[in-house]
Amino acid sequence: MRLTTVGTGTAAPVADRVQAGHLVESGGVRILLDCGSGVSFRLAALGVDWRTITHVALTHFHADHVLDVPTLLTAWRYGMLPPRSAPLEIIGPPGTAALIDRMTEALGIRWREYGFPVTIRELSPGERLTLADDFIIESRSVPHTPESVAYLIEGAAHRIVYTGDTGYDEGLARWAAGSDVLLCECSLPSSMAMPTHLTPEQVGTIAKIATPQLLAVTHMYPPLENVDIPAAIAAQHEGPVVVCHDGWSTEL
Ligand SMILES: [Zn+2]
Ligand SMILES: [Zn+2]
Repeated sequence: MRLTTVGTGTAAPVADRVQAGHLVESGGVRILLDCGSGVSFRLAALGVDWRTITHVALTHFHADHVLDVPTLLTAWRYGMLPPRSAPLEIIGPPGTAALIDRMTEALGIRWREYGFPVTIRELSPGERLTLADDFIIESRSVPHTPESVAYLIEGAAHRIVYTGDTGYDEGLARWAAGSDVLLCECSLPSSMAMPTHLTPEQVGTIAKIATPQLLAVTHMYPPLENVDIPAAIAAQHEGPVVVCHDGWSTEL
């Protein structure tokens, strides 16, 4: 199983971080977790094949996590020759189908006529979905927006947990226990703490409970760029930490 952090940024446009998007690949499954603005072009810049993505899973409906879904749908029809024919599954919390409809209707993207079957699967929190033989995705509600979820991806004897955007939640930390990689949002310094995002110190507390083999942090707003994130985390959590950049990748 391979994890690539394609986009490690936020709603703030910065030079080196596009918005949220992370690719998990295992066997024939290539699932993109979130799909914010810039993710499709960053995939191309990294030399990662965007044409053969099999699934897109959205954690919530904020623009910095969904804006490139219309970009990719358009790319799969008009940006490759021959156009895509392989099926695509879009996964997300309840409301995902309405979101896709509204975004694409506004832009005149008639994806139902694009020649590749698209299935939209709304997962209720706690539900598990089989993506391939032994490869599953499970969601869990997190405190950010009402629909927000975290995802567990499990397959080939490995587990990746991606928090999406979340505030501090001890239950989330316990749910993430046993993960090989905990890909955790880390938005703001403690001086700007808010209940719907995490500070490095809170990420450290979550990791202390979850004890992942590797803690990978993402979704850093610009005020964090001058903070020593690993040091702040290390005050709580002793395990290995990586502050991800666009294109960071690990093989499990
Ligand atoms: Zn976000
Ligand atoms: Zn958000």
